[in-house]
Amino acid sequence: MSVKRFIFLGPPGAGKGTQAYKLAELCSVPHISTGEILRNEVALGTPLGTQAKSYQEKGELVPDELILDMVGQRLSESDTQSGWILDGFPRNLSQAKFLDELLEKLEQKCDRVIDLEVPDEIIVERLLKRGRPDDTEEIIRHRLQVYRQQTAPLIDYYIQRQLLVSVQGNQSMAEVTEDLQKAVDLNC
Ligand code: AMP
Repeated sequence: MSVKRFIFLGPPGAGKGTQAYKLAELCSVPHISTGEILRNEVALGTPLGTQAKSYQEKGELVPDELILDMVGQRLSESDTQSGWILDGFPRNLSQAKFLDELLEKLEQKCDRVIDLEVPDEIIVERLLKRGRPDDTEEIIRHRLQVYRQQTAPLIDYYIQRQLLVSVQGNQSMAEVTEDLQKAVDLNC
């Protein structure tokens, strides 16, 4: 089976986590969500978790110096040999550049970057139903603003590298999964 490496972009509430998890299962590769790793660290009360907590609670990006080593270590673990799906990383240009260098060092190549798009008004509605601690309307709107300012520029970055495919996230879960499979030419 060929190695599969995908990055998921898309605003909070686009269904990234759910779809990234499904695709990871279909491809039998690890689903690596930086938000989930951080939430886990917060729950365990580790030094990293303690530092990350206030940023997560405000809907701000956690500073790169707390994230980059964490991702470097995770992508160096042995289960990533079969591939990986990155969900929530990179979130800004400096993270994307760090990832390019890291992958070069690890002699790995990203196969595709998937942009899962959903209109803002639907996002707010969806996230209010999800009910995570950082899902109040004020924090959701702030997370969206952070996404548009810091993460959305990565769409162009990956278009230029001819890696980007867009998938319409405003459909039923099954339809999104089907479109995703087509977008990544999945035979795994
Ligand atoms: P997510 O689960 O991807 O929605 O992420 C939840 C929160 O975790 C974000 O609002 C950020 O505070 C933090 N976070 C997750 N991934 C990153 C990242 N790559 N860089 C900075 N902060 C992140």
